[in-house]
Amino acid sequence: MRERRTSRRGWRTGVAAWAAALAWTFGIGDAAAAEPGLVGRTIVIDAGHGGPDGGAMGINGEVEKTITLAVAFKVADLLREAGADVHLTRTDDDDLASDEDRAARRRQQSDLRNRTRFVRERSPDAFVSIHCNSAPSPAWRGAQTIYMEGNAEGERLAKIMQAHFRAQLLPTKREADDMNTLYLLKRIEGAAVLAEIGFLSNPDEAAHLVQERYQQEVALAIYTALLEYFAPSAEDPRDASPSMA
Ligand SMILES: [Zn+2]
Repeated sequence: MRERRTSRRGWRTGVAAWAAALAWTFGIGDAAAAEPGLVGRTIVIDAGHGGPDGGAMGINGEVEKTITLAVAFKVADLLREAGADVHLTRTDDDDLASDEDRAARRRQQSDLRNRTRFVRERSPDAFVSIHCNSAPSPAWRGAQTIYMEGNAEGERLAKIMQAHFRAQLLPTKREADDMNTLYLLKRIEGAAVLAEIGFLSNPDEAAHLVQERYQQEVALAIYTALLEYFAPSAEDPRDASPSMA
């Protein structure tokens, strides 16, 4: 516990530095305080899987549901510090299926239906579902964002987030990809993306994804993507600071 708090403090210092650099770049003020672009934004973060649904298994026993929840908490902390109104679809190791549906072996549909309802009821300005990837070959690697085909805002957020993944995470040449088969993304409008934060079937990525330090880097990449997505426009005269002219 003590160790966790110590590393957390170091982490916050790193975030402040990063965010300060970004804030200076975008000209949006003191990063230690609220971020104008994020203040009051409703953002839903979905930690993939949970409970009986572990998601993908890593080659050394890593479990997707544990990693997605850890990263979701870290993203939520960063967003809340910046002033966003953050909602997590789950905050413990459980899925969202109802007991009756679970008993009737309709767990997965029930879980996805309830996640969708949770998100829609909050009418978020942005939605990010966090998952880990898995492939038959251990060679596959790289974090990747996915958006619903034809969803322009989802595409914009996914492309910004993919750029942050490429710049800030383990090497990847992947591009944001569109799909039309994902249950949640089909049913959630606006800036909705699914973030596959790495392959648990790849030894290097699996080893990183269980480390708190790398989880923090992933959270920061997601956070800085949202910060950029919601950044006040540089062309908007209301945002221009005379001292910056
Ligand atoms: Zn998953």
